[in-house]
Amino acid sequence: MVSWKDATVSNSIAQTIQTIREKIRQAALRVGRDPSSVRLVAATKTVSSDNLEEAYAAGVRIFGENRLQEAQEKRRTLGPREGLAWHFIGRMQRRKIKDIVGNFALLHSVESVEQAEGINAAAEKLGIHQEVLLEVNIAGEASKGGFTSQELEAGIEALDRLPYVSVQGLMTLPPWKENPEEVRPYFTQLCQLRNRLARQSWTHIRMAELSMGMSHDYEMAIEEGATMVRIGTAIFGERG
Ligand SMILES: *Cc1c(COP(=O)(O)O)cnc(C)c1O
Repeated sequence: MVSWKDATVSNSIAQTIQTIREKIRQAALRVGRDPSSVRLVAATKTVSSDNLEEAYAAGVRIFGENRLQEAQEKRRTLGPREGLAWHFIGRMQRRKIKDIVGNFALLHSVESVEQAEGINAAAEKLGIHQEVLLEVNIAGEASKGGFTSQELEAGIEALDRLPYVSVQGLMTLPPWKENPEEVRPYFTQLCQLRNRLARQSWTHIRMAELSMGMSHDYEMAIEEGATMVRIGTAIFGERG
């Protein structure tokens, strides 16, 4: 199959990012989408601050982190940077919510109405609106967090009543398949779910974003409507 793993070993991060950007562009153009409608989120768990520095220099402006403490350490090391946004893409433990809220431009992985209520309360205390995505467990896998499609349809009106939570769209982590073509139907389903929800009229909810696609399958995710792709290994190499 494709050789991006080999490529990351021999190429610099900057070259790799350039190649990925071109693939993003081509994937968007294949389906008649504007390439600028797709944002690259560099998934940076376990990646060193030096490598983040290189990615920033190569033009990456969104880092997606999975752990609060690791994210905070890297932020301190990098310091404030022009145009740089930090997203939280990992599972959020209940006791960490109050520290996560307000520290990330976007939380990709809200997994229940109860969790959204916790975020709402923390955001109210800070006097902010926290932007979030709703994670959808699109294949209904027992091992994964997120709303099933049914849970989402049942819970979304409650979410729309939370004034300090600003839902921007949906996110998914589909089942892993050796052949990425087998993942395509899950991306299609998430896009259809988003479109269905977007047709209803909401008070606080916006259904614009679709965060889907990782190293292995981002081109396909873009063909199916992704507006954000979360890419780690293909940029930084295998995690140690
Ligand atoms: C690590 C991670 C990614 C990136 O995965 P790669 O296969 O390394 O590109 C994307 N999304 C989430 C939620 C992750 O935890």
